[in-house]
Amino acid sequence: MKNPYSVECPYFYGDYFRGKNVEECRLLKTSGERWTRDLCKTCPVPEISRANACVHMRLRGKVARPFSAAFMRRMQIYAYCDKVKKPVAEPRVGCGECHALPFKFEIKP
Ligand code: SF4
Repeated sequence: MKNPYSVECPYFYGDYFRGKNVEECRLLKTSGERWTRDLCKTCPVPEISRANACVHMRLRGKVARPFSAAFMRRMQIYAYCDKVKKPVAEPRVGCGECHALPFKFEIKP
């Protein structure tokens, strides 16, 4: 579903049927944190899910206030691979278990 900034996000849920106006972030809901629409503006999750569709990777979200923007709340994302049972340092790329890195290209004559 598209988030309030019109970007497809697998964790956004909106129910506008018959005058309802229910919106929530199901990623933050699982961690019990309060979600507000402005978090979607800078959230990296839509980009991560477009770049990496690995079924073994689990995301966890947390609201943080970075030092450089003390008044702004930002999403902080942690990724974990269920297959290798390790944190994923770069969620856009993945852990490298299923798709070995760096990629090897073969040029056949
Ligand atoms: S905060 Fe991020 S994960 Fe949550 S609905 Fe918005 S874009 Fe999706």
